[in-house]
Amino acid sequence: MAKISININSGSIQKEDPIVGIDLGTTNSLVAIIDKDSKKAKALKGKGQSVIVPSLLHFGTNEEIIVGQSARSFLMDAPERTVYSVKRLMGKSFGDIHEHASYFSYKIIDQDAEELVKIRIGNKFYSPIELSSFILKELKYRAEQELGTEVKRAVITVPAYFNDAQRQATRDAGKLAGLEVLRIVNEPTAASLAYGIGLDKEELKHVAVYDLGGGTFDVSILRITQGIFEVLSTHGDTYLGGDDFDRAIYQYWSEKYSIPELEGADIQSLRLSAEEAKKALSSSEHFTKTLQLGGKDYSLELSKDALKACISPVLERTKAACLLALKESGIALDELDEVVLVGGSTRTPAVKEAVQSYFPNVHINDSLNPDEVVALGAAVEADILAGNRKDLLLLDVTPLSLGIETLGGLMDVIIPRNSKVPAKVGKSYTTSVDGQVNLKVSVYQGERELVAENRKLAEFILKGIPAMPAGFPKILVNFILNADGILKVEAMEERSGVKQDIEVKPQYGLSDAEVEEMLLASITHAEADVKTRMLLEAKNEANQLIYLTERFLEKNESMLTDDELQQSSLLVNDLRNSLESNDKDIILGHIDELNEYTRPFAERLMDISISKALKGKSLET
Ligand code: ADP
Ligand code: MG
Repeated sequence: MAKISININSGSIQKEDPIVGIDLGTTNSLVAIIDKDSKKAKALKGKGQSVIVPSLLHFGTNEEIIVGQSARSFLMDAPERTVYSVKRLMGKSFGDIHEHASYFSYKIIDQDAEELVKIRIGNKFYSPIELSSFILKELKYRAEQELGTEVKRAVITVPAYFNDAQRQATRDAGKLAGLEVLRIVNEPTAASLAYGIGLDKEELKHVAVYDLGGGTFDVSILRITQGIFEVLSTHGDTYLGGDDFDRAIYQYWSEKYSIPELEGADIQSLRLSAEEAKKALSSSEHFTKTLQLGGKDYSLELSKDALKACISPVLERTKAACLLALKESGIALDELDEVVLVGGSTRTPAVKEAVQSYFPNVHINDSLNPDEVVALGAAVEADILAGNRKDLLLLDVTPLSLGIETLGGLMDVIIPRNSKVPAKVGKSYTTSVDGQVNLKVSVYQGERELVAENRKLAEFILKGIPAMPAGFPKILVNFILNADGILKVEAMEERSGVKQDIEVKPQYGLSDAEVEEMLLASITHAEADVKTRMLLEAKNEANQLIYLTERFLEKNESMLTDDELQQSSLLVNDLRNSLESNDKDIILGHIDELNEYTRPFAERLMDISISKALKGKSLET
């Protein structure tokens, strides 16, 4: 029941508008809310058959759009007008997904690898944001049907590894569906919340969330305390899931019954029977069915043991990710308090057994429906945002470090990976050239020491810095990361007040695999990166020293003997040549030599300046 309140100013009666939680999934989507009476999270189905809405869209020839279960039959009948797995395209460019292009049977436009992808249906073009908004509209509609009131606000979940482009795209899809998206929440965070983990602020919990859906798999290790959900590590495979189980069963039957190569609708019926068998074996011991293929009857059988054998290679791949995630999280197995099972595929008993074996003796939470748990948790978060659970404020963390490029192409991290969001961090910088009036601020995301190895998010130029000697301007760069993980960057020259800011809305995103790769690469390349960094720092120092020394020699020629001038120039040249060696130690050696030689000059100059100053003359620099 919706609550009713009275607006004192207008005297009108208002229904308090509910905030729903939405799991916008690759295979299935759901909407949930906290039931006002029972105070428990509950998935909504409106007038639909089930709370689960398959993330499928069919575009009819009369402009009609069919969403969910009713679109399923069109996967076979009109594949070019039926869209699935749109979540995989969110915030992506064609370049990001082209290696998986064969996975999609609908038309993805490939004109520009840098642009966000578009999907062509007939002679119309749709962005993944629009397509997702149709699914969200359907969920909104169902919620409204069931609640009997308009639904305008929502919390939407995304995988922990989603980058800001993907998060932004999800938020935009919500907006397009007529929803104010109050928060974008990580799926493992939501799943934990559904089990009440994290609701007691004082507790410290370490949780592994194992999510095996239809076509994606991820495992995240969370550290939860004081309302903060920190993703210590996340691993997975964005092309691994229950669909692979179905394929393995298909393969198994094809061999067992010597089914010849199938065509058209037969492929689909055998595939659907495989899925049916898999699901049946989640609650019964044996599966049999007669199916006609190519005019011939086959009596298909599947035992639990056969299923287990079929899926074990897939499970083996999830094992590796679990072990890696645990290792990378830095916590020991016996510090892990809970495992949460998420995703329809964890209904298969062999999956649960396998997960238990990866995390021996750790309590497994599977009492809630694994395909509903993310939406239920999103509803809990929605309830917290509605102010119904006082003093609880939940925070997520950012998965990759954010920083800017500094001299020599180095990544200077401003907000480190796994920082709590929202976050605001400022850092001071200065200019490297005399009279520099512009400063380029290039924003990057990633863990490598060199920006070239990271991903560029945005760039802007702070203009109109008053001309000052190098090192004089004080430029404060602020990174403001909001609760959804969306970044705003501002730069300000503090002496003059010149200011510039930008909301970082990247043109296209990283693939999930890339985010993971970047994290892994940062570990494997750590040593090489440190070496490169030290070399670059040595080069920077050398360049600065050459610049300063030459300027000094020019200005103070009269103070030095010919011999001193000549020797200094020689050492400067040596240093300049040593840069070619790309050897940090050689460069540092020449830096020392030049410093050693010129130090007395500086002292001499200082003495002269001081005596001049004492005579009341102005100081020369
Ligand atoms: P996603 O999060 O990717 O949108 P879901 O969590 O809804 O997907 O999981 C969908 C997968 O779960 C499909 O592969 C489906 O076949 C599988 N699934 C659904 N019900 C069962 C069941 N009872 N037993 C085994 N697998 C199931
Ligand atoms: Mg899911």
